Amino acid sequence: MRMVLLGAPGVGKGTQATFLCKRHGWKHLATGDMLREGIAEGTLLGLKAKEAMSRGDLVEDDVILELIEKTLDGIKGAGYVLDGFPRTLAQARGLDEMLEKRAENLDRVVLLTADTEVVVERMVLRGRVDDTPETVRHRLEVYENSTRPLIGFYEPKGILRRVDGVGKIEEIHERIESALA
Ligand code: AMP
Repeated sequence: MRMVLLGAPGVGKGTQATFLCKRHGWKHLATGDMLREGIAEGTLLGLKAKEAMSRGDLVEDDVILELIEKTLDGIKGAGYVLDGFPRTLAQARGLDEMLEKRAENLDRVVLLTADTEVVVERMVLRGRVDDTPETVRHRLEVYENSTRPLIGFYEPKGILRRVDGVGKIEEIHERIESALA
């Protein structure tokens, strides 16, 4: 299974990706986690990402695409869940090109849905450093402007499924499993 978890920041993509990967032995590919690791370790990647991340802006597409390409090279053949990538149309097109080169395709894009109040509350509760009220508001705007258009990109391909992201973690997990079947 090669899949994308799509949805607003705070909708629970990371939690659900962890569940899915544990159950199926897939790789959890979370660009946000990789960038935070880069910042913590002071790598070049971290340097490139730091400012944009602290503002709640997106890191440049080229930086992200290079990161994903390297990651895919390192996990040859394994199933994976992409969490937080792609976030722009340019990234989605870049992913398509990478997959084409590898003679692979994306099996599913699962869109997790929740009302704005729910995702804001979840972000406030997790209390990450980039979760200040201003950046939270800004990240939601960035999602609307840059990432929501991906729905229209994947829908015609017939691989998009919408899953209600509100409820108990286990219930949402089972909904996603059904959407993958
Ligand atoms: P996340 O952990 O997915 O919420 O990502 C945290 C932050 O990392 C985002 O607000 C962006 O600044 C950056 N980021 C993560 N993934 C991407 C991506 N695919 N494209 C651009 N920026 C990203």
